[in-house]
Amino acid sequence: MRHADYDQLDTPGVHMMRPIHTLFAIMLIVAIATLASGATSPSLEQKIRERTASIETKLIAWRRDIHQHPELGDQELRTSRLIEEHLRRLGLEVKTGVARTGVVGILKGAKPGRTLALRADMDALPIKEPEVLPFASKVKGRHWGKEVDVMHACGHDAHTAMLMATAEVLVELKDDLAGTVQFIFQPAEEGSSLFEPFSGKTWGAQLMLQEGLFAETKPDAVFGLHVMPGRLGEISYRSGATTASSDGLDITITGKQGHGGMPWNTIDPITTSALVISGLQTVVSRQANLTISPAVITIGTIHGGQANNVVPETVHMSGTIRTYDKGVRELVRHQTRVVAEKIAESAGAKADVSIVEMYDTTINDERLTGQMQSVLERAADGKVSRASLVGASEDFSFYAKATPGLFVFLGVTPSDQDPAKAAPNHNPAFFVDESALVVGTRTMASLAVNFLGLPPDK
Ligand SMILES: [Zn+2]
Ligand SMILES: [Zn+2]
Repeated sequence: MRHADYDQLDTPGVHMMRPIHTLFAIMLIVAIATLASGATSPSLEQKIRERTASIETKLIAWRRDIHQHPELGDQELRTSRLIEEHLRRLGLEVKTGVARTGVVGILKGAKPGRTLALRADMDALPIKEPEVLPFASKVKGRHWGKEVDVMHACGHDAHTAMLMATAEVLVELKDDLAGTVQFIFQPAEEGSSLFEPFSGKTWGAQLMLQEGLFAETKPDAVFGLHVMPGRLGEISYRSGATTASSDGLDITITGKQGHGGMPWNTIDPITTSALVISGLQTVVSRQANLTISPAVITIGTIHGGQANNVVPETVHMSGTIRTYDKGVRELVRHQTRVVAEKIAESAGAKADVSIVEMYDTTINDERLTGQMQSVLERAADGKVSRASLVGASEDFSFYAKATPGLFVFLGVTPSDQDPAKAAPNHNPAFFVDESALVVGTRTMASLAVNFLGLPPDK
């Protein structure tokens, strides 16, 4: 249609002007479309790719150093010092001692713009590492007052190293950045090693937020990444509910102690606790609407009795409740209490049930996820897939509740192994193929520059 219009024009000057206007309009549309799709200038992504590759050796060395010196939640002193020194060397504004041992770095781009946060966790687990890797941990630490072996069995060593590298890459691109990047190095994602969850104290992400992490400047988005068994270098993610909510469960059954040969003179908390455990499974299978959200109740510890011929006075159990929906979570929590109390009552015993809210479901913001889809695809060279719901929980959920968040997974299983058979996170044989670390760094840096490149109203 428009071409026909040009043909009808006979003024040479106008004839020349129209295609120029059209060309300009096309360029403008392309530019707007590029920005709207979350794509930044390809040269910036190319720079990220080159810079990340150039510091890969350093990135792996950091990871190995942190792996060899793991520290439990709220005791990450060496790790935070390492991060602090690195961030100061890069010229960032640094805050330390956030939520006990956390470190926050602020990078201001050359141009004004929005703010975004990138998060890594720093803590290790009370797990003994087998002596397989040359940089295997031999470290011992204290967990809830007891001496334990310590291992980075959840990959937080990799997260920390990748975020240190991301900071280095983004500092080099400072002149091209419009806005601010907040680097969050968070302690105690796995919980505090100083006190038990039922102590009433807070830790990790929640404590960082309580201490005002987002108070001064609330970021417009927050991104996080977790390594897990999966195709090497593959980024997987999903929109909406991603990791489970987690509630700590603590049940004490009190009966009446007596002779094991004369149970009729006792109230047996052992047989009662067996009924309670079975009954709790019906909360999930018979009462929760599993079409809305899967749910899990696991009893992880049970302690009671000291002699074979004594019915003890009490049995103590602890466990966890996992869900992906607020309503299902409330129902499961409520029914857990009712079932345990009523079953105990029917046996003449008493159940004291405490349920402590630990972590919320991590919800990936739908719009942010959509905006970043093409960025993830480019960063992972097309190795991108839709993640299944994850049964583990993450305190990244607290950041994602405060501001739109996106939490993605990075596959770290060696290419010659089957990810389905690889040792899971928290297993002593959990293994990180370090060649995936450049992909993770590239992903975090690309998310940052692309997000800051979006128009402010997006
Ligand atoms: Zn973990
Ligand atoms: Zn973890």
